Amino acid sequence: MPKPILVLGAGPAGLSASHALASVGQQVVLVDKADRLGGTPILSGYAKLVPSGMWAKDAIGGMVDRVKGDGAVRSVTSATVQGFSGAPGSFSAKLSNGEAIDAAAVILCTGFTHFDSVNKPEWGFGTFEDVVTTTQVEQMISSGQGVRCPSDGRKPKRVAILLCVGSRDRQIGREWCSKICCTVSSNLAMEIREELPDCHVYIYYMDIRTYGLNEDLYYWRSQEEFKVKYIKARIAEVTSNGEKLIVKGEDTLVKRPITIPFDMVVHAIGMDPNVDNMLISAIFNIELEKHGHIKRLDTYSSMAATSRPGVFVAGAATGPETIDDSIAQGQGAALAALAVANGNRVQAAE
Ligand SMILES: Cc1cc2nc3c(=O)[nH]c(=O)nc-3n(C[C@H](O)[C@H](O)[C@H](O)COP(=O)(O)OP(=O)(O)OC[C@H]3O[C@@H](n4cnc5c(N)ncnc54)[C@H](O)[C@@H]3O)c2cc1C
Ligand code: SF4
Repeated sequence: MPKPILVLGAGPAGLSASHALASVGQQVVLVDKADRLGGTPILSGYAKLVPSGMWAKDAIGGMVDRVKGDGAVRSVTSATVQGFSGAPGSFSAKLSNGEAIDAAAVILCTGFTHFDSVNKPEWGFGTFEDVVTTTQVEQMISSGQGVRCPSDGRKPKRVAILLCVGSRDRQIGREWCSKICCTVSSNLAMEIREELPDCHVYIYYMDIRTYGLNEDLYYWRSQEEFKVKYIKARIAEVTSNGEKLIVKGEDTLVKRPITIPFDMVVHAIGMDPNVDNMLISAIFNIELEKHGHIKRLDTYSSMAATSRPGVFVAGAATGPETIDDSIAQGQGAALAALAVANGNRVQAAE
């Protein structure tokens, strides 16, 4: 009887890996440091997901229920791994709750950390109450409260969404594109217009990357049906005149300075490496890539392998990923880990 496979992190990637393993009869121990399963879309209260349009609580909640109802998966919440030793087929993990787990293989699905906008102080977050993040707007919508200015609860008449906050920004050491925020922002802009038809919504962008099939559904639809306005700009600062927030910058198409007043400014925050990654790297003795994400050993022969045989990785732990791709990677990692559990493969990149 093979030992269980340890899955660390119960977001979309970890839930999909656990379900895939359980569906072929493999025992799984699913561990998450949060007090609930579901990962960031549940913990951060996302609203309707792109591109499915499903509420996160239903889409990811369904994945949680499927795993919870499966006798092959044992979930342990409010816990993490503190010690790890052994070899493929025979690892031992010590949890923060004191429990020891024998595991044949491990899949790290530990995800990402939201960029903290206070690291971009010139754009007003932390200084002005009505400068918020996309996660805050997601929560306003998913809670049913609706989009309101935090300072006084009024309905905003003018909203600016600033893209690439904490992404594609070499000055603050974040060179990567976070992949999802253009599409998420176009979607939020449409949701705001739907709830508040008198509200003007502007999206400030460097480039628009609603890639693939999302281009017409989000970029074009938001303009043509919902009259969202796009401004290609370099933003200098977000200030206040005491009544309105003022977004100052340069319109890079016409090469002219622009200063526009708003009631609410939304930072489309990026996906940072998980703040735990240094610790995870030390505990599991695995390498990180140069930006701080968990390094994949190889792209073509074994996508899920890390630098340590028998330890695999999936989802946003490897870098910015969408939910769909995180789910697919979770399934891929499950197959690789299963091969180790069955004693067929011990070399990570075979
Ligand atoms: C504002 C915003 C909106 C988004 N909206 C969408 C969308 O609509 N559609 C879409 O496809 N994508 C969206 N995304 C991206 C989406 O959040 C990710 O694709 C997805 O969460 C990645 O899943 P994951 O399982 O890899 O990681 P996560 O969802 O981050 O889950 C990781 C899990 O690991 C746990 N964990 C972390 N560290 C440890 C540790 N040391 N020990 C134990 N447990 C740990 C965490 O508690 C968490 O439960 C959005 C991202 C942002 C920033
Ligand atoms: S997806 Fe769009 S907003 Fe997000 S980092 Fe890439 S270009 Fe910027």
